[in-house]
Amino acid sequence: MSEATRTVDAVTEQALIAELFDLVRELHGKKQAEEIVRSFDGVFATHDSQAERMTIAEHWRDFYRLRKYRRLMRRRRPTYAERMTACSACGYPASHRHHLWNIQAHGENEVTIQLCPNCHELQHLMYNALVRDSAYSQKLALHVLASDTVKPETARMVLDWCRATIKYEIDNGWVEAYRATDDWVNQRLRWSEFVAKTATKSEPPPKTRTRKSSRASSKG
Ligand SMILES: [Zn+2]
Ligand SMILES: [Zn+2]
Repeated sequence: MSEATRTVDAVTEQALIAELFDLVRELHGKKQAEEIVRSFDGVFATHDSQAERMTIAEHWRDFYRLRKYRRLMRRRRPTYAERMTACSACGYPASHRHHLWNIQAHGENEVTIQLCPNCHELQHLMYNALVRDSAYSQKLALHVLASDTVKPETARMVLDWCRATIKYEIDNGWVEAYRATDDWVNQRLRWSEFVAKTATKSEPPPKTRTRKSSRASSKG
């Protein structure tokens, strides 16, 4: 073995053990972590062969990486205060935590909104219809939208959050850009149909509204 190879291996071993110890310190309380680190030092000291030490270090590094990953993926139990927060979409007085950044990609995170069980389901149905090409979710979402039981402003809010998530995922390159467009939303959720139908229901037909009044309202 050349001197250069030996140096590279020593650096690799040091980095491996440093990562292992960092993981131990991240996953355990201070006192326990130092005990574990000490016992690893003891184990490494009994192995003269660098290859053996690296095999051991690699095994435990992978073990602790997995534990860290599992901890990261664990959903935090919602607090009472969160559960008793009104639904952000419809106002129902109890709610679930919905992750706008999904847990699979980000682990437990604070980018959440509170949605009641119904709005929460609708959110996931819409998302799956738009992003996962799920015919099952699309059929259910269309059924809910056609039922006349969801207020248009509620459905609009749920859709807006859905699109916020999709846009974020588009920006990260995880999802194709067309999936947040109006065309796609119309195609998958018949959104303009829903808007037209609910608009004619909630507003009496304008009888003699004059065109003059448009002067003051310049916003789009
Ligand atoms: Zn709701
Ligand atoms: Zn959710």
